[in-house]
Amino acid sequence: MSNHNKKTEQLGLNFGTAQNRLKKQLMLQLVQQCGRDSCFRCGELITSAVDLSIDHKKDWLDVSPELFWDLNNIEFSHRGCNSSCRSRVVNRYGAKMERPDGFEYCFSCPGLKPVSEFWRNQQECKLCKNARNNEWRHRVGLRGKRTDNDVTSESDRARDNRGSG
Ligand SMILES: [Zn+2]
Ligand SMILES: [Zn+2]
Repeated sequence: MSNHNKKTEQLGLNFGTAQNRLKKQLMLQLVQQCGRDSCFRCGELITSAVDLSIDHKKDWLDVSPELFWDLNNIEFSHRGCNSSCRSRVVNRYGAKMERPDGFEYCFSCPGLKPVSEFWRNQQECKLCKNARNNEWRHRVGLRGKRTDNDVTSESDRARDNRGSG
């Protein structure tokens, strides 16, 4: 059995994973001892090693690799607060933009809106979606003439909406 496998077996988890976890715990302890354990983004204390992330004060990506290595550009933050941990979206003009937690990008508005303004898995906000539906109803001549079919589709939609709340 290789040394690596032996360590993995005795630790009960992958040796690489264990090493990373240990480094993080050690880093948190050192960060706490230096008094640098308040989050650079939100100011709250970072209390768990899993939550600790190395943050760059100035964005280095698409700017300069030197900023990545610049120790004076490093602060610590919660994983969730760290901008590089947040997802980015490509907007309808093809530019990358940051998508903060709790926001989605609407391709029709276009712009960032709170997740609550979207049905699940949609790239369009509810407003734009409804506008498009109304436009479609208008085009096929359903507007103003409520038929039995129309009522059914209306209640179907209500049911869908509940499901995606
Ligand atoms: Zn934070
Ligand atoms: Zn929209």
